[in-house]
Amino acid sequence: MQKRHLAILGSTGSIGTQALEVVEANPDIFEVEVLTAQNNADLLIGQAAKFRPNVVVISNEDLYDKVFAALDPLDIKVYTGDKSLASVVTMDSVNMVLTALVGYAGLIPTVAAIKAGKHIALANKETLVVAGELVTELAQKHKVDILPVDSEHSAIFQCLVGEFHNPIEKIILTASGGPFRGKDREFLKTVTKAQALKHPNWSMGAKITIDSASLMNKGLEVIEAKWLFGLTPEQIEVVVHPQSIIHSMVQFEDGSMKAQMGLPDMRVPIQFAIGYPNRLKSNFPRMDFAQFPSLTFEKPDYETFRNLGFAFEALKTGGNMACIVNAANEIAVAAFLRDEIGFLEMSDLIEDCMKKVSFVRTPTLEDYIETDKETRRLALEFV
Ligand code: NAD
Ligand code: MG
Repeated sequence: MQKRHLAILGSTGSIGTQALEVVEANPDIFEVEVLTAQNNADLLIGQAAKFRPNVVVISNEDLYDKVFAALDPLDIKVYTGDKSLASVVTMDSVNMVLTALVGYAGLIPTVAAIKAGKHIALANKETLVVAGELVTELAQKHKVDILPVDSEHSAIFQCLVGEFHNPIEKIILTASGGPFRGKDREFLKTVTKAQALKHPNWSMGAKITIDSASLMNKGLEVIEAKWLFGLTPEQIEVVVHPQSIIHSMVQFEDGSMKAQMGLPDMRVPIQFAIGYPNRLKSNFPRMDFAQFPSLTFEKPDYETFRNLGFAFEALKTGGNMACIVNAANEIAVAAFLRDEIGFLEMSDLIEDCMKKVSFVRTPTLEDYIETDKETRRLALEFV
């Protein structure tokens, strides 16, 4: 297996730290070339001292001096500033980029990496939500793989290995339902961020945890799946599966279904993406069926969790609509985490932006950048 020389964008986050566990366990296969973080300078310094990348990026410029002072003696280059993520991913020594940073910030570095011919292990689903058409076309043009890290998309990808010539009839994306499964709108009116941050099955960054509580995460994943697997909205079904053991399913044209299963542990899909096409040996906990005597399934509640419907609507509308939904959601989640708006108001804000932001039918990269800005401006007025 050709050695993977990784740039890990967002190495201090939930996905980034778990990716480094996989790297540490497989030193013959993975080499770390680049690590990046926004604010957690101490952890970034510690990671760099251990994994000895060529380069680190600390995005918060106020922390540059601190990181430089710690890593310059180790002969590790330190960068900061807007353009540095997009430039470090193009370095000759890198052959794969793991996009483990959160939100719209992933778009420009991912586009730069694809143009430089680097394979992408994609955790940053927002990139495909914002500009899925443009990004997947670029990847084809530059012959780079986009390997999914998201557990549901990894499950689908794992089901498709050996089946790429067989058309998909539909996919079934599983959703845990989050901490508010079964709750009604009356209950959701007054829920706090502390309640929303308690995910039943997964420990993740704050933004995706709130998205999971509001089902926006599943909506973003519907859009992500469309672009990764070339599907129509009608071919994507969401089913709530509270145990998070089946990570998603594919139904083929003969009616047969394949599912990928296992304990909820993000190291499995991270490792599958960065180690593809090989399955590397791991010591992660194994599933015991006796511990899960029943796996259950139910329909999502589209009336209570309106964000999921917005995502399907954005897919059907096309153009820059999913970019609008993403930007509005990022502002909504940030405002909810600052206690400035209520849980249900996050959906109101997204709906408002979908109605008011200028629609563009065939957006260019510049249009997406402009749409993101315009949506954020409008959403902040709403807040
Ligand atoms: P996190 O908040 O734990 O970590 C985010 C990382 O990105 C940190 O290292 C942070 O320093 C960096 N970062 C944040 N904002 C940045 C910015 N503006 N510029 C540069 N760097 C920035 O997030 P996470 O839970 O690890 O999620 C990362 C991505 O992976 C998200 O897109 C999320 O949807 C996706 N994802 C996460 C999980 C999970 O289990 N955590 C599962 C599936 C998909
Ligand atoms: Mg997921």
